[in-house]
Amino acid sequence: MADMRELQKMRREAFLRDVRQAQEFDFIEQMEIVSVEDANTCAFCAAQNGKRYPKASVPELPHSEADGCNCVIGCRCIVIAVVPDDF
Ligand SMILES: [Zn+2]
Repeated sequence: MADMRELQKMRREAFLRDVRQAQEFDFIEQMEIVSVEDANTCAFCAAQNGKRYPKASVPELPHSEADGCNCVIGCRCIVIAVVPDDF
């Protein structure tokens, strides 16, 4: 499935870009995983929704089968920068 590999490569590049950009903002300390809430999201990915990590140690996305993901159309989890409440 070359197309799926390309799609996951694109998702990986977007993830790496988002983490890299967060490193440029000192007030961003954490990033939060957001998973898609629909029938194509596996139980593993659904359970990751809302988890927060220090921006230097965010698990690599998209999740792989080795991570525990079995989304039929591939992992679509993303990360968003957490903006502090007092920003
Ligand atoms: Zn999954």
